Amino acid sequence: MNKETLARKLSSGDCLPLFQMADAVRLRYCGNGVHLRAIVEFSNYCSKNCLYCGLRRDNKKIKRYRMSPAEIFGAARQAAQAGIKTVVLQSGEEKAGLGELFPLIGRIKKELGCAVTLSLGEKTAAEYRALKDAGADRYLLKFETSDEKLFRACKPDSDYSARFDCIETLVSLGFQTGTGNIVGLPGQTVRSLAGDILRLKELAPDMISVTPFISNPDTPFAGTPCGDLEMTLRVLALSRIETPDAHMPATTAIRTLHKEGAGKALACGANVIMPNFTPVLYRPHYSIYPGKESIIGDPSVSIRDILKMLEKMGRKVAPGYGHGRRHHTDSPL
Ligand code: SAH
Ligand code: SF4
Repeated sequence: MNKETLARKLSSGDCLPLFQMADAVRLRYCGNGVHLRAIVEFSNYCSKNCLYCGLRRDNKKIKRYRMSPAEIFGAARQAAQAGIKTVVLQSGEEKAGLGELFPLIGRIKKELGCAVTLSLGEKTAAEYRALKDAGADRYLLKFETSDEKLFRACKPDSDYSARFDCIETLVSLGFQTGTGNIVGLPGQTVRSLAGDILRLKELAPDMISVTPFISNPDTPFAGTPCGDLEMTLRVLALSRIETPDAHMPATTAIRTLHKEGAGKALACGANVIMPNFTPVLYRPHYSIYPGKESIIGDPSVSIRDILKMLEKMGRKVAPGYGHGRRHHTDSPL
């Protein structure tokens, strides 16, 4: 589809046929299984000042924390014990602290048998290489918006082309790479969302994350409206149709926006859910946006709820590691 067609499909027409088509594409390319990835939000320190995010460095209202390697390993072990085969380590964009992660990545893989995904923001090529050498399998770095003007307005201390260079570096280093956008950023247009979908198609990443913007009162975007659920689902569905074999999560943000958001996203292209294994003690402080805390709950309860929902939908938990579909092995080692 070209930009005009995408913009039209985003802004008008019955969404049901679009969602049904995305669901059929998901079934054909990714099967019926839903991959579970355990997310551990190990640090909320951030050197950046993205206008939409509660972890931005100028937000003095949050209590900053960094989990110790033993705490991170403990959370990963809990995920492995729950049968989850991927651990996602996410943090704000820290200036230091990578060193502690190297041995930890190896231990999570060797001792727990889990694949490791990282989401640590922009790093140098040498740092990405060191993380890959330490054994990391995957990396998530969203471009957030393909609209350069909007990008500059929302991410004042990031460079637009440098962010895309990071994504390219990750791919060239052999990471299974995930990227994506935010839907509903203040000032974003339907054409700019259509541009995001085209950019996703061009990049053909292994993973795509489409999240609605959720307004955070402790940021400069306080009081602005949140992203629209239907628009988010339209972007998700069109991204699935245009990039059929990517893994796509029903994100926590969609679940925060609507209590049935996970089911809705799984019915229009998503095939991944990320239960939260961040220790309860730290969760309130990983406040990228408000409302998330009440969604994620205790991991064992949330996994039970997920299984119940999947059963109702005729879906099941996918076996194996759920590597990118172009990475043929099913072993994380
Ligand atoms: N610091 C890293 C990873 C942690 S942030 C990075 O920026 O890449 C993870 C994701 O949270 C971001 O990619 C962004 O898409 C999302 N995010 C931040 N603030 C948000 C908000 N207010 N609403 C919705 N998503 C948000
Ligand atoms: Fe930091 Fe990432 Fe939030 Fe930007 S989106 S402020 S880099 S945690």
